[in-house]
Amino acid sequence: MRVYNFSPGPSALPLEVLERAAKEMTDTNGTGQSVMEMSHRSKDYKPIFERTEALLRELMGIPSNYKVLFLQGGASLQFSMIPLNLAAGEQGSAKKKAVYIDTGVWAKKASDEAAKYAEVSIPASSKDKAYAYIPAAPKADSDAAYYHITLNNTIVGTKWASIPDTGAVPLISDISSCILSEPLDVSKFGLLYAGAQKNLGPAGTTVVIIREDLIGHAPAWTPALLRYDIHAAEASMYNTPPCYGIYIIGLVLEWLKNLGGVSVIAQKNREKANLFYSYLESSKHFLSPVEKVSRSLMNIPFVPRETDPEKRKDIETRFVKEAGAAGLVNLAGHRLVGGMRASIYNAMPIEGVKALIAFAEKFEGSL
Ligand code: PMP
Repeated sequence: MRVYNFSPGPSALPLEVLERAAKEMTDTNGTGQSVMEMSHRSKDYKPIFERTEALLRELMGIPSNYKVLFLQGGASLQFSMIPLNLAAGEQGSAKKKAVYIDTGVWAKKASDEAAKYAEVSIPASSKDKAYAYIPAAPKADSDAAYYHITLNNTIVGTKWASIPDTGAVPLISDISSCILSEPLDVSKFGLLYAGAQKNLGPAGTTVVIIREDLIGHAPAWTPALLRYDIHAAEASMYNTPPCYGIYIIGLVLEWLKNLGGVSVIAQKNREKANLFYSYLESSKHFLSPVEKVSRSLMNIPFVPRETDPEKRKDIETRFVKEAGAAGLVNLAGHRLVGGMRASIYNAMPIEGVKALIAFAEKFEGSL
């Protein structure tokens, strides 16, 4: 029996994709091989790789002056690669400025890493209210190398309601937990990046979408594998890419295209999120800690209204345990913030959200 999996990542994948991958496991496209066994440079693998990139370009509307790279190291390696390639100086020369907006753990990890290679400034933060809102975006210094935001904050469940205008300063965003969840104007960004393990496929692949003029600025001392120019020149095949993950991403993108693409999934995502937020608004025992205008469509943290710490902890532990027993799994909040969290990525059907609400209502009866 399949469970409803509310994991923040790695997360649920569409059942059709898993079934197709299972069917093709030992013989893909009549090649007599699994994708796992193919050389990344073979004629058998080439169309699989090219189809994945073409589908991503089509679904996201990626303009032709952007390169798409399939890399490894997770979104976390991008925390290092971005400042290394765009702001680090040659040996003995000055680092460039980089602006980071602090909207939570991942944004902070990105800026901490960047501080090793860039002159980092953090002109806005939502730390004062436990990151439960997105702060106003201050204007960028015109001499900054780039301006970094985390579009959807997986742990606290916030998202930027509008894209800040950074003028001539390239805007960079971590879109790990919201890629392909709703339409995004790629042309507003200099660089976008996402770990695959939420809306795209299995962990192990990182997608980087980079405007061509931002390629080729790494100082000479940058390790080869961390340079965008080398990955772009070699079309993600400087070394062996995560071949099987890229294949699964292709199947997920095909699934999304057959559903009707990003605008259709966005409608479904809004419907799912609205349903759950409405439930929380009317619940006597649970609430969303996030300010309304900043609420995520993908990650919905919720906490007991109970204020006594011990009773609260008891409710949380029991909720997660009993939900798990009812086939609604991975609902614990992030270890740093506690509470509960329902991650409802593209592959979560509305029936999963309805089942969660039905469970929560029944659970409330026991309080
Ligand atoms: N950024 C965001 C927004 C995330 O949600 C995560 C992981 N959950 C990361 C970065 C880190 O990603 P990875 O584990 O792929 O390095």
